[in-house]
Amino acid sequence: MSAGFVHLHNHSDYSLLDGACRLDRLVERVKSLGMPALALTDHGNLFGAVEFYEKARAAGLRPIVGCEVYVAHGSRLDRTRSADGKGAYDHLVLLARNREGYRNLMRLSSAGYMEGFHYKPRIDKELLSAHADGLLCLSACLRGELPQLVLNGDLEAALLRVPRDPRLEELLAEAEMFLGKFTEARAVLERIVASGAPSERLRARIRLGRIANRLGSYADSRTMLGEAVQEAAALSDRTAEGEALRALGAVERRLGDMSAAIGHLERAATILEDGSREKIRALVDLGAALIAQGDIPRAKARLTEAAAMSRHRTRDDAAIQINLGIVLSREGEPHQAAVAFERSAEIALGAGDVRFASIALANAVENFLRLEAVEAAATSAERALRLAQTIGDPVAVSTAQANLGLVFAKRGDWAKAEQNLLGSVELIARLDNPYSLASRYQDLAQLYEAQGRGADAAPWKARADDLFARLHAGSPTQSVPGGGRTDSRPND
Ligand SMILES: [Zn+2]
Repeated sequence: MSAGFVHLHNHSDYSLLDGACRLDRLVERVKSLGMPALALTDHGNLFGAVEFYEKARAAGLRPIVGCEVYVAHGSRLDRTRSADGKGAYDHLVLLARNREGYRNLMRLSSAGYMEGFHYKPRIDKELLSAHADGLLCLSACLRGELPQLVLNGDLEAALLRVPRDPRLEELLAEAEMFLGKFTEARAVLERIVASGAPSERLRARIRLGRIANRLGSYADSRTMLGEAVQEAAALSDRTAEGEALRALGAVERRLGDMSAAIGHLERAATILEDGSREKIRALVDLGAALIAQGDIPRAKARLTEAAAMSRHRTRDDAAIQINLGIVLSREGEPHQAAVAFERSAEIALGAGDVRFASIALANAVENFLRLEAVEAAATSAERALRLAQTIGDPVAVSTAQANLGLVFAKRGDWAKAEQNLLGSVELIARLDNPYSLASRYQDLAQLYEAQGRGADAAPWKARADDLFARLHAGSPTQSVPGGGRTDSRPND
């Protein structure tokens, strides 16, 4: 242990049936390790405080008097049993900062025995708020209120219990975005936009733009992120500018505006710090955009650059592998590509990203079909759909369904092929995602043409041509990639 380190949560043998350290030996040990101070936090009592204070001072250590108190779930006066048959309470560590804090600690400890005793000497939040001056609190052990909420899987509830602080609010918004609770995340972010410091407001607006993207409001997202880029530049906040540019490029890819996406992603990759997660993701997005534009050599170079910076077996690693798989596929190596997709799906599952694993498996389907490996394609397609359905992500479900449709078409099972492709179109049509929609229309037209049903094919072909033409009008240099079913970008 370095000399600057101090233990702030310690039990002595005054923590009855809970601590085995004798105070003289504890002080001696801490002294010999070269630590400058020591806290004593016995359970529910201050019985050892005076002895501790004197022994620590005599040894030249700074004593920090504290207590691990029991906090009743409701009122300290309520003595009903909890579900486990004991008194309902959580643990909380309190430390005295000064003389006033020490006095309050004594008041709280006494009240625990005289007013709140139920199996343990308990205080409650009412007492705590009346006697909080001069005290610091820590989240205690696993029996603390916050650790219990986190253990029960409710990080969000844990964060809501913590006093308002912009950094924790950002964490709360991230947790809610991760849980897919976008309405709640938005409310937190809008609170930050209304009252935070300029840099906090900026980061909140970037996150609001990312949420709009996740919800399929691509046009709104583009506007919000474009403004965030300008604001970041005005504040000379390079990290935020890089982050906003990356998010903007991601939306432009969704909108099919590849030249704008590539320009913004190139700038993001230049601005962001080497080796940072944002830089790796900017390079991966850039590689995917270059693939969509048909520039395979440049895509490969950017993805290789990202691979050199990324840690193995992470979500980012999986994203790089899937895009390198697409590169292999476009280079005419369908077998190696299919293997790369399956590998990236396993990495994604290992990293806990079900959505991305589903997309990787859907990508493998196309390559297996090109190899005429229909059974391998069917297995991948069915697994991709199952994974997508477990998380209910509409883009992933639609992608998997379209690819399953192609498997049925290859088998000549036209009815099931049609059913899956139409289902896929229906899902995508609800989102503002013209690029994927146009690709699905094209799939349907090709399906009917393959059966010699020209009349059925015509309306779908017309819709596809119309959408592609409009997308081209937005970005004249763009080339249409062969397979629009694939979605290689897991981020945002
Ligand atoms: Zn404890």
